[in-house]
Amino acid sequence: MESFDLERLVRPNIAALAPYSTARDEYKGTPGIFLDANESPYDNGCNRYPDPAQKELKEALHRIKRIPAGNIFIGNGSDEAIDLIFRIFCTPGKDNVITISPSYGMYRVAAATNDIKVKEIMLGDGFRLPYNGILDAVDKDTKAIFLCSPNNPTGNSFPMEEMLSLAGKFNGIVVIDEAYIDFAEGPGASAFINEYPNIIVLQTLSKAWGMAGLRIGMAFAQQRIIELMSMVKYPYNINVATRRIALSLLRKGIDAEIAQVKEEREKMAGALACMDMVEEVFPSDANFLLVKVNDADAVYSYLIGKGIIVRNRNSVPGCSGCLRISIGTPQENGRLLEALKLYGTPDAGTLETAGPAGRSARISRKTKETDITVEIDLDGGKESSMDTGLKFFDHMLQQIPHHSGISLDIRCRGDLEVDEHHTMEDVAIALGEAVWMALGNKRGIERYGFVLPMDECRAMVLLDFGGRADFVWDVPFTREMVGDVPTEMFRHFFKSLCIAMKANLHIEAKGENNHHLIEGVFKAFARALKCAVRRDVFKYDLPSSKGTL
Ligand SMILES: *Cc1c(COP(=O)(O)O)cnc(C)c1O
Repeated sequence: MESFDLERLVRPNIAALAPYSTARDEYKGTPGIFLDANESPYDNGCNRYPDPAQKELKEALHRIKRIPAGNIFIGNGSDEAIDLIFRIFCTPGKDNVITISPSYGMYRVAAATNDIKVKEIMLGDGFRLPYNGILDAVDKDTKAIFLCSPNNPTGNSFPMEEMLSLAGKFNGIVVIDEAYIDFAEGPGASAFINEYPNIIVLQTLSKAWGMAGLRIGMAFAQQRIIELMSMVKYPYNINVATRRIALSLLRKGIDAEIAQVKEEREKMAGALACMDMVEEVFPSDANFLLVKVNDADAVYSYLIGKGIIVRNRNSVPGCSGCLRISIGTPQENGRLLEALKLYGTPDAGTLETAGPAGRSARISRKTKETDITVEIDLDGGKESSMDTGLKFFDHMLQQIPHHSGISLDIRCRGDLEVDEHHTMEDVAIALGEAVWMALGNKRGIERYGFVLPMDECRAMVLLDFGGRADFVWDVPFTREMVGDVPTEMFRHFFKSLCIAMKANLHIEAKGENNHHLIEGVFKAFARALKCAVRRDVFKYDLPSSKGTL
């Protein structure tokens, strides 16, 4: 075959294109007074146009991916990169591309919107790459081959040698979509973009990096391809808010999340394989499992009825009988397994419909002295109730959901005939563990404090979910008992809670009335907790004194 000539592949109208240039592209001095773009001069954090060259983001990606900034394109999701590949290389109504099947549906959609024919080549046995079938399908108007590895929805990766060999034999573009590469072993194809001038590697921040809502996808390729893509894209395709949040999240890393997803994936594969309705769990290098079941439509509908949504791939050629199941948090995965275990049994109807399990936890603790269940949902919306057998303690615990908006259900049967000690200590431990578990990865959580006046009293609570437990208590009671609880037990309660939550907890209160004093502490604690667990992605958005994050 003749050697690869990129310029011959580019559509003539694109090759002749003069890119839109912004006035700020031309100005290279120190930041001055910008009167060039008809922006508003009033700073509100987003009144200026974003950098069309996305220098900061490319630098950040360069540090992570070890790919030079000149070889990186950043788009509004990988979907933008896919569309641009059609617009740059494929003449509507004339050219065609080759995709594998089953694979990601977006290639076909982008082809259709650009009026480009698609030749779909079915994967072989065990979802093998149809190497010869692809080469046989190439004709003089074939401009691109779309591969996806690890492949969606089958989950498997294709051998690198085979993909590179295809690129070596084909005179058009070979796209290798690596949306799931972070969950696979090995570094992927981006190391080969200079050796193979026709390879475009697609990656995304939507999956492992947890930024699906921001819409950032990347293409890695030889510099000229990146130049073409940058020229054709909308100049401001990545907005200011997206850039700021992405820069902040990129700094945090994802090693722990990836490790957990991979571990859960193996656990889930094992557990699913043992179920009666499961015929096959296919090997996966991604954050999902393709699972063949005896009646995909029925299992799918059953799960919907239980509030669990998976992807039904039954009607996709090559995937009949299959569901695609994303790996969730350990709690979410547990809920799925629990629901599947009851499928087809008389007990199935008794299973409670699962709500979003992202920020909830259920802790059951049974010891010689106590039998406790704590259910918590940081996002609220459920009934809260307390039943520990200690009336005054219940009254205090009730302050937590009431003043934090968190749903909290605590049930405890303890050896109150001995004393309050075990009950209060074990409730604290179970509550602390539940908070810790429900918090999950704790992203964006910071230090919080709350000062609360209550009649003649003043209570101050400082709370920081930093992972280290440090406890300060300065609450001088003047009586031995409040209600049915010895006052000394409250120090013990909060200390045990602090250790179990792995939080810094500083509590100080002053006042005359002991009832008000402790109630003020519980209320201030609830308020500090409310702030500390609040989830708000725009918290990442706060500009530093340098004006950027
Ligand atoms: C999810 C996914 C993408 C990501 O698309 P974005 O537009 O970046 O969110 C790309 N390719 C495949 C195969 C996917 O499954």
